[in-house]
Parts: sequence; C-alpha cells; structure tokens
Amino acid sequence: MSTTPTVDDEEAETESESTLATARKQLQRAATNVEVDPAIIERLKHPTRVQQVSVPLEREEGGVDVFTGYRAQHDDVRGPYKGGLRYHPEVTADECTGLSMWMTWKCAVMDLPFGGGKGGIAVDPKSLTDDERERLTRRFAEELRDVVGPTKDVPAPDMGTDAQTMAWFMDAYSMQQGETIPGVVTGKPPVIGGSYGREAAPGRSTAIITREAVDYYDREIADATVAVQGFGSVGANAARLLDDWGATVVAVSDVNGAIYDPDGLDTRAVPTHEEEPEAVLTHEAPETLSNEAVLELDVDVLIPAAVGNVITAGNADAVDADIVVEGANGPTTFAADAILAERDVAVIPDILANAGGVTVSYFEWLQDINRRTWSLERVNEELEEQMLSAWRDVRDEVDARDLTWRDAAYVVALSRVAEAKGARGLWP
Ligand code: NAD
Repeated sequence: MSTTPTVDDEEAETESESTLATARKQLQRAATNVEVDPAIIERLKHPTRVQQVSVPLEREEGGVDVFTGYRAQHDDVRGPYKGGLRYHPEVTADECTGLSMWMTWKCAVMDLPFGGGKGGIAVDPKSLTDDERERLTRRFAEELRDVVGPTKDVPAPDMGTDAQTMAWFMDAYSMQQGETIPGVVTGKPPVIGGSYGREAAPGRSTAIITREAVDYYDREIADATVAVQGFGSVGANAARLLDDWGATVVAVSDVNGAIYDPDGLDTRAVPTHEEEPEAVLTHEAPETLSNEAVLELDVDVLIPAAVGNVITAGNADAVDADIVVEGANGPTTFAADAILAERDVAVIPDILANAGGVTVSYFEWLQDINRRTWSLERVNEELEEQMLSAWRDVRDEVDARDLTWRDAAYVVALSRVAEAKGARGLWP
C-alpha cells in the first residue's frame, strides 16, 4: 500500500469537523485517484436538494411541539436516492447531506441502481410515546410526499427508527396516494413487503468481507482471531457467522465494556443488544476489558461495529490487529486512517463491509415492485454473490494500483458515478 495519505495539521484537526466537511474532503481525495472531469467533481460536492420541513406534533400531555425534519438528496444519476431516516436530537441539514454523499458511494461501490439520500427529524425518540412517534412519522411522510417515492427516493430505517416506523411511513404515503405502494421505503416488516434477511444483512456482509480479507492475506478463517466492538445488529450477526465459520471470536463488547476469552467465546450464548440490551458483561468469561482495550487487542481482525470515530489519531498507533473491518459507519477518523495506512494495517471500509443492509434493501425494493417474495435462502445467496462481486472490483483496484482499501473502494464508486454523469451530460 504505497499511496499512504499524509497526516498534516489540517487533517489531524478533522476529528471534530462536520460530517459534510469530511465527506467533501473524502470526495476531493478520491478525485486525485481517478481521472474525472473536474466539473463533475464540482457537481458532486453539492447535493441535488435538501428538503427542510416543519413537523408539528400534538403532545399527549397537551400543547403542540414543532420539530424540524430533513431529507438530503445527494445524487440520483444512477437511480432513485436511497438512505435512512434517523430520529436523533442532533440531526442537521449538514449531517444529512454528508451522510447522503456516503450513501451515493456505498450504492455505487455495490453497483446498485441507486443514488444517495439521508434524512431525519431533530427529536429525541425516547421523549415520544408510541402514539406520538406514529403521528410524527405520518406527518413527516406527508411533508416529504412530493420528494419521495419508489422511483424518486426510497428511505429506510436508521438511528432511532425501525421497521414499525417504516410501516407507518409506507401506510401514510399509500393512503395519500390512493394505492398501496410498498416500494416507497425499505426495512419494513415482511408481512407488508419487507425482505427476509434485511435486519441481519449488514452483519452478514461484514462477516463475508472479513472472510474474504482473511483469505486475501493468506490466512485461514479457522485460524483467525477476531475482536468485535459493539454486540448489536451488525456486531452480533457478524460475530456469530464468523464463529460458525470457525473463527475464534476472543472479545465482544457493548457500551458497558467487553468480555474476553483467548480460547474463543460462544457467541450464540452472549446476549445481543436486541435479545437483552447492554447485557454482554452478564455472560461469564475469563476476563473483562474496557471498550478502549478491545481496539488494542493483538488479533487478526478487529471489527468496530458500535459507533463512529472510535479509532482516532490518539489510539491508532495502539491498534494491534492486522486487518480492521469497519462494521460501523465511520469508526476510523481521517487522521487515524492515515496512521493505520502508514503502519500497513489493512482497513476495509464501511461503504463496502456493511453495505449488505442497502443491498438487501435493493432486493426488498425489487420484491415490492415485482410483487414477489424471495425466500431467506435466495436473499442470502444473492447477497453473497453481490458482496463477492463488489469485493473483487475493489480488490482489483488494490492489486492494480497499490491503493488502500478505502481509496480503492472510492475509486470504484466515483468512477461509476462519474461515468454515468459523463454519459448523461449536463442538462440543459
Ligand atoms: P445497535 O443499536 O443494534 O447496537 C449497537 C451496539 O454498540 C450495542 O451493543 C451497544 O451497547 C454498543 N455501543 C453503543 N455505544 C457504544 C460505545 N460507545 N462503545 C462500545 N459499544 C457501544 O446498532 P447497529 O444497528 O448494530 O449499528 C452499529 C453501527 O453499524 C452504527 O455505526 C450503524 O450506523 C452501523 N450500521 C448499521 C446498519 C443497520 O442496518 N443496523 C447498517 C449499516 C451500518
């Protein structure tokens, strides 16, 4: 990996910069590795549209609160915008825009016929009753009705939203349109057009990519040791699959800390976030560790699968894994990335590793449009195929041009988007 990014003062400061600033910087960096018309890069720095709406809600205890909602639509040159809707107090237009850019690259690296979108409401979902959450979601769906739709923009669950939220969104949209339109959102319950395997898909793709990365570096999955930070949807599904495939999962953690067994944990016996929230430490194990210590374990593979910005300039030198597979979104800061590249630690980026979620969302959208349900076996088979195809595309760039895995993934993604932009041209 000779194209090591340099850590200059400006980059070192990016730990606290906005998501949008980071996303733009990543685009600029990717542009240096691809021959693209600068006018196309300039166009891609800007979202097509950022819709801001007011969402009034009658409170159960009386009175009305007005929340602000957003939908950022970055680019749709390859197909409808695709991305989550989050309910979180810190949702902003800038954050949605930055995250929508990442969705453009994630969809493109997977070669899905989608562009990038992201949205949400600045609200603490824990402050809402179930009834308030339903009414807020229905009104939000109505406020966004003109800009979403199966051929325009297809939201999905994200932080603070779930399959039920998508069911309400789909119902509100369908009622107003006068017909049942399941393809307006993905991540729905299977009974109304959701896909089997959607929930487990980001963890499954993280495991598939881990297996391929271990093989690429000439090791056997059955001999590999793995540490996983975060034992939620992504972390637990990835850990259990790798365990099934023979890997030794030595540590898993939740927000309270980690359990460690050098001989390997029985991952099926450790409660996941969904089974029993924040209960990892209740499982008996030879040792407990802090969450920081998990990142510094001497293992073959480290999978950060909890939250963003956990590997920073402050601890990147202490990372002792040979391969880092990003299960979470953005676990490695820009500055940490440079340090890991200098140290020859392979970092397989989030836009590839956890892209199983958006890939099965694409399968869900296909099932909705065709009014035909796929079995779980078919979903998992097609996911495997799509992940391996994306893995090969990125691996070929790594091999051909001696790039880091992140740079190679961006080259694949940006080339596809830029080529589509070039072919369609600029209208008028
Ligand atoms: P989740 O809520 O199911 O689980 C999160 C886990 O991380 C829990 O075990 C929690 O205890 C733990 N955790 C929270 N804060 C922590 C901290 N500071 N240190 C250590 N552990 C902490 O979440 P999830 O759906 O698995 O998502 C995890 C990450 O993966 C997020 O970055 C998310 O954006 C990303 N992701 C999720 C999906 C998806 O569809 N679920 C898809 C792609 C990416």
